[in-house]
Amino acid sequence: MNKKIYPGAMLGVLGGGQLGRMFCVAARSMGYHVMVMDPDEHSPAGRIADVHVQADYQDKDALNKMAQQCDVITTEFENIPADSLRLLAQTTVVYPAAQALEIAQDREVEKRFAKDAGLTPVPYAVLATDADCENVTMSYPAVLKSTRLGYDGKGQRVVASRNDLLSAYAALGKVACVLEKQINLRCEVSVIVARNHDGEMRCFPVSENQHRNGVLHVGIVPARISSDIVQQAKSLACKLAEALEYVGILAVEFFIDENDELYFNEMAPRPHNSGHYTKDACVTSQFEQQVRMICGLTPGDTRLLSPVVMVNMLGDLWQPDWLNILQESNIKLHLYGKTEARAGRKMGHFNVLDTDVEAALKTARKVFERLSA
Ligand code: ADP
Ligand code: MG
Repeated sequence: MNKKIYPGAMLGVLGGGQLGRMFCVAARSMGYHVMVMDPDEHSPAGRIADVHVQADYQDKDALNKMAQQCDVITTEFENIPADSLRLLAQTTVVYPAAQALEIAQDREVEKRFAKDAGLTPVPYAVLATDADCENVTMSYPAVLKSTRLGYDGKGQRVVASRNDLLSAYAALGKVACVLEKQINLRCEVSVIVARNHDGEMRCFPVSENQHRNGVLHVGIVPARISSDIVQQAKSLACKLAEALEYVGILAVEFFIDENDELYFNEMAPRPHNSGHYTKDACVTSQFEQQVRMICGLTPGDTRLLSPVVMVNMLGDLWQPDWLNILQESNIKLHLYGKTEARAGRKMGHFNVLDTDVEAALKTARKVFERLSA
C-alpha cells in the first residue's frame, strides 16, 4: 500500500476545472501522465490532459477505465459522489479517501467532525423544518447556509433578524441548513496542509483572505496576524488532517473575530483558490505538493520566497486590457483557458510579488482598478 509512484506513471483526476488544470501542468512538468474525467468537452483540465475521459462521474464504464489505467486517482472537486470513489478504490489507489469527501460535502457533518478533532466551529444550529426555524435560539445577524452544494457564497443568506429566518429558509428551498452566528470579522485566513500516507505533514504559509460577494477577491501572504495565531491555525489544520487520516491537499478556512478568537469555518479536500500564490511565491506549489502527496513522496519545501498578493479575475470584468497586467514586471498572470466569461466565474488570477505585502497590495489595487475601469 505504501508504494511510491514515480514519473512515467498515469495520475487520474476527477474534475476538469482550473484546479485540475494546474494539477496537470505540475504533474506533466514532473514527467507524469494525467487522465482527467469531466463531462464537459471543453473543461480547462481536459483540454491539456494526456487523456480526457468525457463522462459523468457516475458512469461505471468510464470509472472502470480510469481505475484500470491510473496508478493513483485524486479529485479537484469535492462533490464527486463518494460511491464513485469507493468503486475506484476497489482496484486502484484513491486519495483523498471517499470518507473525507463525504464529510466535506455536508456542512453539518464537517462542523461536528472538526469539533471532535479539537477545532472550534462558529456557533451554529441545524435546521431541517419550518418548526426548527420557529424554535431555534441564535444571535442575529446570522448566516443561513444549505448544508450541501454551496460554494463561492452560493446557497447562503444573511439573516438580519429572527423575523427574516423563515423567508430566508424558504428562499433556499427549505433544504437542510445550518444557521451560524455572523462573526464580526477582523480577518479571514486559510491554511493549506499536505499529508502523505506515511503521515508526514507540511503546511503552507497562512493566507489572509478578503472576499467580495462571498467570493475570494485577494489573498495576502504573509497574513498580517500575530505569529501566535499563525501557529494556532497551522496546528489546528494539522489536527484536522490527522483526524481524517487525510492524504493529499486539505484547505482549512478560519475566521478571526475582533477579540482574536479563531473559528473553524470550513474545509476543502483539494487545492484551494487561496493557495494560488504558492505557484510563484513558494519553493513548492500546492499543485506539485498534491502530486507529491498522492505519489507517496516527501512533502516539498513550503518556504515563502517573496511577499505576495494574489488577485482573482472573475468573468464580470472580462475584456481585460492585457498590457495593463503584462507590462508590470513583478506580476505573474495565470489564465484557465475558459472561453465563456460569465459573471462571478473564475477566469484566472494574478500574483504580485514585492518586497513587502503593502507594496504588493498597492500594485494589485492599481492594476485591478485599471482592469475594472
Ligand atoms: P463558501 O466558501 O463555500 O461559499 P463560506 O462558508 O466560506 O462558504 O462563506 C463564504 C464567505 O462568506 C466567507 O468567506 C465569509 O466572508 C462570509 N461568511 C460566511 N459565513 C460567515 C459567518 N458566520 N460570519 C461572517 N462571515 C461569514
Ligand atoms: Mg469558503
